[in-house]
Amino acid sequence: MPSQNAERGLIEKTPLAAPDGHRVLEMRRVFKAFAKPSGEPLPVLADINLAIGEGEILGLLGRSGSGKSTLLRIAGGLIRPSSGTVLYGGEPLLEPAAGIAVVFQSFALFPWLTVEENVEAGLDAIGLAKPEARRRSQSAIELIGLDGFQSAYPRELSGGMRQRVGFARAMVVEPVLLLMDEPFSALDVLTAESLRTDFMDLWIERQLPTKSVLIVTHNIDEAVTMCDRILVLSSNPGRIAAEIPVSLAHPRDRLDGEFRSIVDEIYSILTSRTTESLGAGNHVRGAFAHPLPLVTVNRLMGFIDTLAASPYNGQAELAEIAGTLSLDVAALFMIAEALHMLEFAELKESAIKLTAAGRLLTQSDTEERKRLFREHLLRFVPFAAHIHHILSEREDHRAPRERFELELEDHLNQGDAENSLRAVIGWGRYAELFEYDDDARIFAAPVSNGESAL
Ligand code: ADP
Ligand code: MG
Repeated sequence: MPSQNAERGLIEKTPLAAPDGHRVLEMRRVFKAFAKPSGEPLPVLADINLAIGEGEILGLLGRSGSGKSTLLRIAGGLIRPSSGTVLYGGEPLLEPAAGIAVVFQSFALFPWLTVEENVEAGLDAIGLAKPEARRRSQSAIELIGLDGFQSAYPRELSGGMRQRVGFARAMVVEPVLLLMDEPFSALDVLTAESLRTDFMDLWIERQLPTKSVLIVTHNIDEAVTMCDRILVLSSNPGRIAAEIPVSLAHPRDRLDGEFRSIVDEIYSILTSRTTESLGAGNHVRGAFAHPLPLVTVNRLMGFIDTLAASPYNGQAELAEIAGTLSLDVAALFMIAEALHMLEFAELKESAIKLTAAGRLLTQSDTEERKRLFREHLLRFVPFAAHIHHILSEREDHRAPRERFELELEDHLNQGDAENSLRAVIGWGRYAELFEYDDDARIFAAPVSNGESAL
């Protein structure tokens, strides 16, 4: 574990140090498992201990599938943990509470209702008298910048304005705790920026009725812009891997040196989690240890060529190359993880560096690239080697997809199993390690005379 993480309070098994003052929401030893298709439990969250203090924005970062949305839904009382306790205002939270509102990535607005009526719909569960409901919705509409659009219908609004209606619908209940699940990620960059800035202005000026915010994001800059504290979740199952306090004054400047160093630190934490889980998995569960990141060979090659070229010349800060290639954190880490796993690049702290093999790959022609890729697939991706091995052992050199699907599903959830298969099919096809017939759902070994066993 890099030492700077330790300084900032890396959390392993001890409960999180709660912020001083009043705790709006607490989770104690929360575990959550879903059922796998086989009926066995799939652990998604493990030993989550956290407290959301009054007056703070708490961020939740982690890779896709790490359990962020599940944690947020548990915090909202929308689902119950498998074990452990959730306390809201000191009392056990057993169902959605009136003081907690949720903003999702995109809203299902009622198309047949106007903006005003959509916002008022947020009050349905509370049962206020009509004049009071109208007064509240009018004030939420003004607050969120929708004044003048009261009688518009959702179809007449841009994506950004529709998301504002979602915010207004959450704010109309004057929530004590606001939960937001990637609230800006469905919007284009500029729209997201303007809505985020408006939200932060209201927060800083204390114009919101809300005491605390929990925001899930996979955008590191966004987390550092908004949050007082950031929790990083590891994956499979999701645990709190690190807690990063952000004490910079608002409004925050993304180009500020201290801002950048916090961003780099978070990249380092995500990186060390990735490399650790790859390393640990291989010994423990063999071919099915770790879901494969679903990235195409084209994207891998595009990334590695950019990394090899000037100005990077083989080594880049993750934040920088993500900017060059317009990758969000989820996409960046899938690519980086795949290259690390294949040993074409090495993740180290907040940087990624080509290995000797990676450099060789970028200097090779198409045939040689394929050959190198095949060699690395066999050596470093046990699941690809496993498929290859099964095909070579069978007399007809064929095997149905289902065979591998079932094996994967013993270890991974259905989504991860599906993605791992799709990833390995793309990689294996490119490397000419095996072929796959989409219609017949059959894997086959390519045979040397150029004909396949399909
Ligand atoms: P994130 O928001 O970090 O991307 P999620 O909380 O949505 O992650 O999902 C975490 C894991 O739990 C994923 O592997 C997902 O497939 C699984 N999962 C989420 N909801 C359910 C459900 N209702 N039933 C079964 N598995 C689920
Ligand atoms: Mg999610």
